[in-house]
Amino acid sequence: MQGLMQSVPLLISSLLAHVERHHGDADIVSRRVEGDLHRYTWADCAGRARQVARALDAQGLPFSGRVATLAWNGYRHLELYYGVSGSGRVLHTLNPRLHADQIAWIVNHAEDQVLCFDLTFLPAVQAMHASCPTVEKWVALCDADRLPAGSGIPNLVSYEHWIGAQPGRYAWPDFDENSACGMCYTSGTTGHPKAVLYSHRSTVLHACAAALPDAMNLSARDAVLPVVPMFHVNAWGLPYSAAMVGAKLVLPGAAMDGKSIFELIETEGVTFAAGVPTVWQTMLGHMQANDLRFSTLGRTVIGGSACPPAMIDAFRERYGVEVLHAWGMTEVSPLGTLCTLKRKHLSLPRGEQAAIRLKQGRALFGVDMKIVGSGGEELPWDGKAAGNLLVKGPWVVKAYFKGEDGDPLVPDAQRRGWFPTGDVATIDADGYLQITDRSKDVIKSGGEWISSIDIENIALSHPAVAMAACVGVFHPRWGERPVIVVARKPGSEVTRDELLKFYDGKAAKWQIPDDVVFVEAIPLGPTGKMLKTTLREQLRGYQLTEAR
Ligand code: AMP
Repeated sequence: MQGLMQSVPLLISSLLAHVERHHGDADIVSRRVEGDLHRYTWADCAGRARQVARALDAQGLPFSGRVATLAWNGYRHLELYYGVSGSGRVLHTLNPRLHADQIAWIVNHAEDQVLCFDLTFLPAVQAMHASCPTVEKWVALCDADRLPAGSGIPNLVSYEHWIGAQPGRYAWPDFDENSACGMCYTSGTTGHPKAVLYSHRSTVLHACAAALPDAMNLSARDAVLPVVPMFHVNAWGLPYSAAMVGAKLVLPGAAMDGKSIFELIETEGVTFAAGVPTVWQTMLGHMQANDLRFSTLGRTVIGGSACPPAMIDAFRERYGVEVLHAWGMTEVSPLGTLCTLKRKHLSLPRGEQAAIRLKQGRALFGVDMKIVGSGGEELPWDGKAAGNLLVKGPWVVKAYFKGEDGDPLVPDAQRRGWFPTGDVATIDADGYLQITDRSKDVIKSGGEWISSIDIENIALSHPAVAMAACVGVFHPRWGERPVIVVARKPGSEVTRDELLKFYDGKAAKWQIPDDVVFVEAIPLGPTGKMLKTTLREQLRGYQLTEAR
């Protein structure tokens, strides 16, 4: 017997319809690339998102057609989030920190048909537009009178002109909630980046779980500041969760320095913020140097890489802000776990509570997790056994877009339906996850992945290089920085500076290694693969010769 309840699809447009009807006057404040603050309401946003949908209809973009963005956190980007997905197209957020060639590869792979960009990224668009044949329209996110003249980009329009001619009336269409709504590429360890294709259902369920009290605890009384970029896993779902609960949204634009973020928090009465540790490190430095205090900020989610204990302490003890340490990944939409205490922990001494808060936390309802040993055997939840972390749930990836790399859900008996995260973790008896390591070889610098293979391939294209392995070494500011370990061809010469110079123009500046280590030979494992674990071991305690 089936239940007799209505079957209403979970669609992203329903979030916007809800916030417009119930919280239409709640504010959205954005810092524009021009530097000024733009203010309007969720009702204004909804009207303009409908104009976006109309503009896409007028262009004849089909259902599931891809619209790419190269944009900061701002109101126009938000309108695209809703207008593109709500009308049945797929929002593809590109990471502007990649090199123009990498962005072009991704645009071609995704077959993007429209690409919307902030003027900051005009040079990147100029460098790549000729190699992006699928893109029919380029939209500069600006007023008509700011459209750059003589840019050389064909079919370039200003966003305001593009949507300006469209009426704000539009009925959001109904369709299968499993339809794709957005996509985000993640750097894999093997070869090219891979795309995670989110669905309306996965996004709405994730937004719902993220807002719960033991997760981000969001409400209509909050002013939410996603410092995490909208091009990094949909700013951890905050543009959706904020609409679901009717929160004020504060979008920082390109001004990600500590001073600007602090000022925005204070002037806009921000109660909740989210970002990677590096952003907060800069802001705490600014606050300490100027003896500043928060007047409204109550809690902040920190994730993307491990949050240093000193940061949790500083926020809590000095500034009275609760830190919620979170673990997630692009393939998990991204939230998997968040750290909040249980009732029984409230009577524990401060030190013991602090030890729990360092962990990445408990699984959200909807995310199932387990740790397994190298043979696939499930390991105990004792807080000691470390194993490969596998996850499962309605907002966990099933397969990558155009999955030419094969099924990510290695279809063996142990892993059936479980996604192998590539992280190594312990889980304690209370279900608190702690990431101890990651099995991937990519390097994370300032919250951004650097593909070691890309960096190695560039070194290998130098005539004097026989073998190259790129590994991350500790850096106090960026978490990790890449170092390239090189074995030269017999009789060939290349110096450190020559090799580093060789990277110019071939990789984005921040992806270029900080140093070169020359070795006689790179250690190889039994199947001929480079043993990066051994290299990392050898480089433990390695001091970068030059701070970048
Ligand atoms: P991304 O897909 O770029 O968001 O990167 C996801 C990866 O970042 C995870 O697989 C982890 O290796 C790492 N990560 C995310 N959050 C944390 C955290 N709180 N602590 C340690 N590593 C993290």
